[in-house]
Amino acid sequence: MTAIRPRPAWSDDDVEAFRDLAHSFLAKECAPNEERWNEQQHVDREIWNKAGEIGLLCPSIPTEYGGGGGTFALEAALAEEQARTLAPSLGTSVHSTIVAHYINNYGTEEQKRRWLPKLASGELVAAIAMSEPGTGSDLQNVRTKAIRSGDEYVIDGSKTFISNGLLCDLVITVAKTDPDNAAKGISLIVVETTDLPGFSRGRVLKKIGQHGQDTAELFFDGVRVPVANLLGSEEGQGFIQLMQQLPQERLVIAVAAVAAIEETLTHTLRYTKEREAFGKPVFQFQNSRFKLAEIATIARVARVFIDDCIVKHIAGELDVPTASMAKWWTTQMQCDVADECLQLFGGYGYMAEYPISRMFTDSRVQKIYGGTNEIMKEIISRFL
Ligand SMILES: Cc1cc2nc3c(=O)[nH]c(=O)nc-3n(C[C@H](O)[C@H](O)[C@H](O)COP(=O)(O)OP(=O)(O)OC[C@H]3O[C@@H](n4cnc5c(N)ncnc54)[C@H](O)[C@@H]3O)c2cc1C
Repeated sequence: MTAIRPRPAWSDDDVEAFRDLAHSFLAKECAPNEERWNEQQHVDREIWNKAGEIGLLCPSIPTEYGGGGGTFALEAALAEEQARTLAPSLGTSVHSTIVAHYINNYGTEEQKRRWLPKLASGELVAAIAMSEPGTGSDLQNVRTKAIRSGDEYVIDGSKTFISNGLLCDLVITVAKTDPDNAAKGISLIVVETTDLPGFSRGRVLKKIGQHGQDTAELFFDGVRVPVANLLGSEEGQGFIQLMQQLPQERLVIAVAAVAAIEETLTHTLRYTKEREAFGKPVFQFQNSRFKLAEIATIARVARVFIDDCIVKHIAGELDVPTASMAKWWTTQMQCDVADECLQLFGGYGYMAEYPISRMFTDSRVQKIYGGTNEIMKEIISRFL
């Protein structure tokens, strides 16, 4: 729990108060429902409103738009507590840390006033739709089109793997306003989905982990939205906007990865000290102690690195290659650690009722979304 961990340099009394609030909400309102949410493949819609009521949504959006008025430190504390309470299903990172910041950074005054308070209250649930059946990593080649027709854009195309896809009421949609251009043809269009003709959702996709998160396909068939829904006031800015915002997305993935590493280590230490084989605790075997010594080292190095990244990000100094380093390395370590720790649980590690099995299956996608780890290395290498 939080009290036994040293306070990171990026935290203060306000952040710790928010962390405690998040921890108790996640432990009481989310963790007990995780199994049911896993089975139904989504959280209950009301949990978004409950989270909004107590101020857990949009904590780093200015108060004038209904947010908490804090910094990224609040987003980081919430992501950490989701890992620590084993309650990862509520998709707040996409909703608050990613989507709300696109609107806050690029939206016109009217757009911010229109959407941000509703995101902060949970009245709207947000998603961002970049990936398509035919293209994920190669974002410049999205096929979804948003063609201007009078005062409207007409959107046609399909998106897949969209987090919060079943429950979202607002989707930032990556589309070509100029299909003859690659990056320069991309714009971000905000689509409000309620009763919207031509908009439909596919099935919630069955995954190997993160079962409680609604990951879905979205279809746009002649969907019409007002031109006022173009994010910002100029077409063709979408790719630049994505490139500017992706480091924050990558950082929050890395923050969750490090918290998961720490939690996985804690669980495994507890188990191996209790479970006996050959008349002694599993922890006493040299192999177990050496593995756990290695993992404790990884956890320490990862913590120092991620804390430094968070401090830099809050100061506006986290550069693109460092965010990519944080994303690939911490998620790779998370997967390695989850695998090694599961092994130390023996057969129980493979049983769904043991949290370690979920830590293992939930970890795998961290190397894939937010830009795959191969793409992270491509980005880093461009700066070498
Ligand atoms: C659970 C989940 C949630 C997701 N949530 C969202 C979401 O909310 N919104 C959204 O838009 N997307 C989301 N995604 C999609 C995710 O971002 C993509 O899956 C990811 O970007 C990879 O795209 P792809 O699946 O098309 O793989 P591809 O791009 O087809 O890649 C296949 C393989 O080729 C490799 N590869 C591709 N290009 C290169 C290259 N240049 N150099 C080296 N290797 C390369 C990749 O690393 C990968 O190993 C989610 C995915 C999952 C699984």
